[in-house]
Amino acid sequence: MLGEFSVGKTSLVRRFVYERFDDAYISTVGVKVSRKTIAVTRNDTLVDLTMMLWDLAGSEEFDQLQASYLRGSAGAILVCDLSRPETLPELLSYVDNLKALGLDIPLALAANKVDLIQDIGAREADVAALAEQINAAYFLTSAKSGDAVEYLFRELGQALLRQTSL
Ligand code: GDP
Ligand code: MG
Repeated sequence: MLGEFSVGKTSLVRRFVYERFDDAYISTVGVKVSRKTIAVTRNDTLVDLTMMLWDLAGSEEFDQLQASYLRGSAGAILVCDLSRPETLPELLSYVDNLKALGLDIPLALAANKVDLIQDIGAREADVAALAEQINAAYFLTSAKSGDAVEYLFRELGQALLRQTSL
């Protein structure tokens, strides 16, 4: 899970794994790893895919510790907050960090807090453009309502199976 402070990284994981949402801000200390197994299709058969979700705190600096976490990742969910448009272009620096490490992994872009937006039109166009630029699928999510959250993780899971020999 990558993205600026307070965009909803922890909330998306909590919604997906525990089917819960909390309005209180619970800051993530260090790193929290959650696990969820989902059924996905591979060659027309259902298989179990266990996803280990790494929710890192303190994304401000790209340091050695972050680099070591990123190195082990099979895919990434880039999260921005639709109510704070500046958090969208900021995602490019995370993509640069992945590239700097030579990682070519499936990416999904979660444009989160869609429940706070009245007219999504213009903002969706910006999200779609950035998603295309970084070759990621995008999802308009709400950790609060649950909109597109399951879909987000599931699509990334399918992409992982397609790209890797897991
Ligand atoms: P993180 O720093 O990226 O892990 O962000 P958090 O998951 O801790 O969320 C930051 C704040 O945004 C918290 O107060 C959450 O309750 C709130 N939040 C997260 N996702 C959503 C969402 O989809 N809709 C709304 N309305 N609030 C959200
Ligand atoms: Mg967090």
